[in-house]
Amino acid sequence: MDTIKEEKIAIYPGSFDPVTKGHIDILERASKMFDKVIIAVLKNNNKKSLIPVEDRVNLIKEAIKEIKNTEVDSFDGLTVEYARKKGAKFLIRGLRAVSDFEYEMQLSQANMSIAPDIGTVFLITKPKYNFISSGIVKEVASYGEDISKFAPNCVVEYLKRNNKKGTT
Ligand code: ADP
Repeated sequence: MDTIKEEKIAIYPGSFDPVTKGHIDILERASKMFDKVIIAVLKNNNKKSLIPVEDRVNLIKEAIKEIKNTEVDSFDGLTVEYARKKGAKFLIRGLRAVSDFEYEMQLSQANMSIAPDIGTVFLITKPKYNFISSGIVKEVASYGEDISKFAPNCVVEYLKRNNKKGTT
């Protein structure tokens, strides 16, 4: 009997305020594991964000244009609801340290209980990106320091233009 192979779609959700080289590394690796990865900016995050959602989306688009089988989007509401809408059965999250793990495990188990059909895949950061966060990128940029080791060029230029400061 012929079987039609179901497309394996994953969502990589987050604030991406702004996207960093750590995020991009996770996305790049995830894109090799799935048929399609949608990197999705959460709009109604509790975190106070600095960069408007549309700009965050555009920066990601620019930064990942060479990574195949990826898409960029934004969404409201529950991540698992969004995943279902997109036909995705997997969520991607990155882990930097034990401190990430505690929160991520809770989130993943909450999602598991709401949506048992959707699983979370954790990818461990490369050591060189371990300390990179959106907050660090904004903080360092706000003092006029070079952030090109931490963030893609489009983010470097964007923060120079806007001289935005903030923490996440
Ligand atoms: P959120 O507000 O959902 O935590 P973030 O944009 O801060 O959104 O992070 C999105 C995801 O990327 C999270 O799973 C986070 O742990 C992961 N992440 C953030 N920075 C890095 C990094 N340097 N290396 C690997 N994963 C990271």
